[in-house]
Amino acid sequence: MKDIDWKNYGLETQAIRAGQKRTHEDEHSMPIFATSSYVFKNAEEAALRFTGQKPGNIYSRFTNPTVNAFQERLAYMEGGERCLAFASGMAAILAVGMGLLKSGDHVVCSRGVFGNTILLFQNYFGKFGVETDFVDLIDTADWEAAIKPNTRFLFLETPSNPLIEIADIELLATIAHKHGCLLIVDNCFCTPVLQKPFTLGADIVVHSATKYIDGQGRCIGGAVIAGNELIEKFIYPYLRTGGATMSPFNAWVFLSGLETLAVRMKAHCDSAFELAKWLAQCPSVSKIHYPGLPTHPQHELAKRQQSHFGGIVSFEVQGGKEQAWKLIDATEMISITANLGDVKTTITHPATTTHGRLAPEVRELAGIKDGLVRISVGLENLEDIKRDLARGL
Ligand SMILES: *Cc1c(COP(=O)(O)O)cnc(C)c1O
Repeated sequence: MKDIDWKNYGLETQAIRAGQKRTHEDEHSMPIFATSSYVFKNAEEAALRFTGQKPGNIYSRFTNPTVNAFQERLAYMEGGERCLAFASGMAAILAVGMGLLKSGDHVVCSRGVFGNTILLFQNYFGKFGVETDFVDLIDTADWEAAIKPNTRFLFLETPSNPLIEIADIELLATIAHKHGCLLIVDNCFCTPVLQKPFTLGADIVVHSATKYIDGQGRCIGGAVIAGNELIEKFIYPYLRTGGATMSPFNAWVFLSGLETLAVRMKAHCDSAFELAKWLAQCPSVSKIHYPGLPTHPQHELAKRQQSHFGGIVSFEVQGGKEQAWKLIDATEMISITANLGDVKTTITHPATTTHGRLAPEVRELAGIKDGLVRISVGLENLEDIKRDLARGL
């Protein structure tokens, strides 16, 4: 296989070809390396690999060829130097915290992040003396005011879940760097197809590969992408010791997921945009959250920062929880499940599921109303999706 510098290729090409190293068997498709350890030619080579003086695999908790291929491919697509894969998106976020934080440190995190991310920062890092302040994602002054001398990083998700608010990554990166902090972006909703946080100044990108990267709802996985120094110094040593490793089988599924990511994302976005426009004129829908609509408060920012508006649409129905549940239960085809980014359209009631474990006042502050419904628009026939929702609207 020719040694190609994939930096010179477009994202669609990187997604299909980068990262794979052909073996002596000349296979065309990436194999699954189902091996827990690797053999050394002799004792000296074993010693050299263990001390890192000689490159090469030792044990699949920290390196595996199939997982490496996934890591390399995603790093190219994000435009970052290095990527490390993890057992889940939460394991990736945990790794960032375990690697970077120490007791006495402070974190600023947006209120609208994934529910478990809030619990991770609050309950678990909190238990070890790391304090987290939660701020309004779109209020830049709120972010800056929350920064303290011991703030290690700012953490955000844009677009947020489930309200689809858009943060200005470039502005927040400038603020973070002015105060000597890192900016970490959870790029799960956009994927590198729609948004490249590194080009906007972010220091670390995290992913739940479980969502659009898989794209067909089969596997759980996550990733951390960052510069070589951050990875070598903080993230890789934690992965090696902490052990929340991605399995080679899952990496193989995610590798093929990446191959179709660009076409899938464009199709998800096109359908979501059409569905949002249709929902906006339904009388029982009182509010709609979709950045493609000119009524969205960050519509202009979304146009600038993202290449498309995304595949997730949220909306509020009149009548609160009762009507929201009624709408969900009236669907015939759409899956009632918490997963998103799937080819299958999914529907959830955030207030009683993904955000149900949050204290009511925390949920209220995050703006998760009882009438809110979130749809991850899949790739079925759009008229069928509309018809399924119309049953309960
Ligand atoms: C799902 C999700 C996570 C967590 O990922 P898992 O793979 O489920 O652990 C983190 N961030 C966002 C935005 C998510 O949607």
